Amino acid sequence: MAGLLDVTAVREAARALHAAFAAVAAPGTPVLHTFAVKACSLVPVLRLLADEGLGCEAASPGELALARAAGVPADRTVLDSPAKTRAELAEALTSGIALNADNPAELARLDALVARAGAPPPPLGLRVNPQLGAGSIGAMSTATATSKFGFPLRDAGARDAVVQAYRDRPWLTRLHAHVGSQGIPPELMARGAAAVLDLAEEINAAVGHTRIDTLDLGGGLPVNFASDETEPTYADYARLLADTAPGLFSGAYGLVTEFGRSLLAKAGTVLARVEYTKTAGGRRIAVTHAGAQLAVRTVLTPDAWPLRVAAYDAEGRPKRDDSPVAQDVAGPCCFAGDLVARERPLPPLEEGDHTALLDTGAYYFSTPYAYNSLPRPAVHAYTTTGPTPTDVRFTTIREPQTLASLVHESAGELRDALRGL
Ligand SMILES: *Cc1c(COP(=O)(O)O)cnc(C)c1O
Repeated sequence: MAGLLDVTAVREAARALHAAFAAVAAPGTPVLHTFAVKACSLVPVLRLLADEGLGCEAASPGELALARAAGVPADRTVLDSPAKTRAELAEALTSGIALNADNPAELARLDALVARAGAPPPPLGLRVNPQLGAGSIGAMSTATATSKFGFPLRDAGARDAVVQAYRDRPWLTRLHAHVGSQGIPPELMARGAAAVLDLAEEINAAVGHTRIDTLDLGGGLPVNFASDETEPTYADYARLLADTAPGLFSGAYGLVTEFGRSLLAKAGTVLARVEYTKTAGGRRIAVTHAGAQLAVRTVLTPDAWPLRVAAYDAEGRPKRDDSPVAQDVAGPCCFAGDLVARERPLPPLEEGDHTALLDTGAYYFSTPYAYNSLPRPAVHAYTTTGPTPTDVRFTTIREPQTLASLVHESAGELRDALRGL
């Protein structure tokens, strides 16, 4: 079993993102596109995206370390975790990393740190929750009335308190919202961006000058998991933003984006061997090596995260699909729900065949789950220069996890720790 990443497709997605915003923004508008590291936390991928002009959005010290390891400079990095410690805040301030404070208590910590710092701080902003409602996946919707993220704007007195926070702090120069990730209709995302623009205008009017100079619009563009079509495209979304809130692109504000899934999903595939096939209760089941350890959301909440499965024979040739049969496609984990597809019409799978889980470039092979001590699979990236198999070039971007590494992560060196207690 292995992850595959189409490098050309990643480059094309990055270029489409740049082009989409360039097409609607006033000339000279500063636009920083960052990549949400959690969507594919592999350093070579962050480096590839940096070469394509993207920065990083990080949400933990680990993600910051990956961005640094990829050579992404501090001034192209944004820190957005909702649970930043004092030490993490201090570290971001001294290393020049922009951040968005999530709540009043975090803002109070920033007050103390900024007062103590000798140098002017990096760009700092507040994350707000426009409380516009949910998309189709509750767990991914961050703009609900009671979401754990950001300053809720519609709670009694909250909007005025945010305006006052900016009045009181000359170093608050950004405003941020991210209304969700997958399942959010683009129209709802655009209303979130419009709400950020409205509030920025209100704050700048209240302060009496352009205090907020940059709007961070977050990520969250949904991915179509149902076909090969990329929809919506970045161009669709940029036009929708320009129609909904033309002031975003007037040049009065610099812009930051934080897309993750939409940059990588279509470029990735998980390939797994069919180890056995069997039947139970009249149901055909293919037991493969790809299950919850890579596709945890698909396995645990299958209705929210359906994946397409393609069938290949042992030689890697597509299987004829003129007489499909409903089959469960199972993973190797030891719980009954470890299925990546249920009653899916597919060519009859046989031992030695391969299944491909499509559109899995983001949040799948890069976000493994350590259940059953299954090792992390290798990830190989490729480019295609022509139509024949020899026109494909591969490079490994993550080595398969060894059993020795697995034992180490399971505290192998501490074997006797409990014997002397
Ligand atoms: C997860 C996340 C993103 C990226 O979301 P995608 O759906 O992958 O585009 C961006 N910003 C923040 C704050 C996030 O939590």
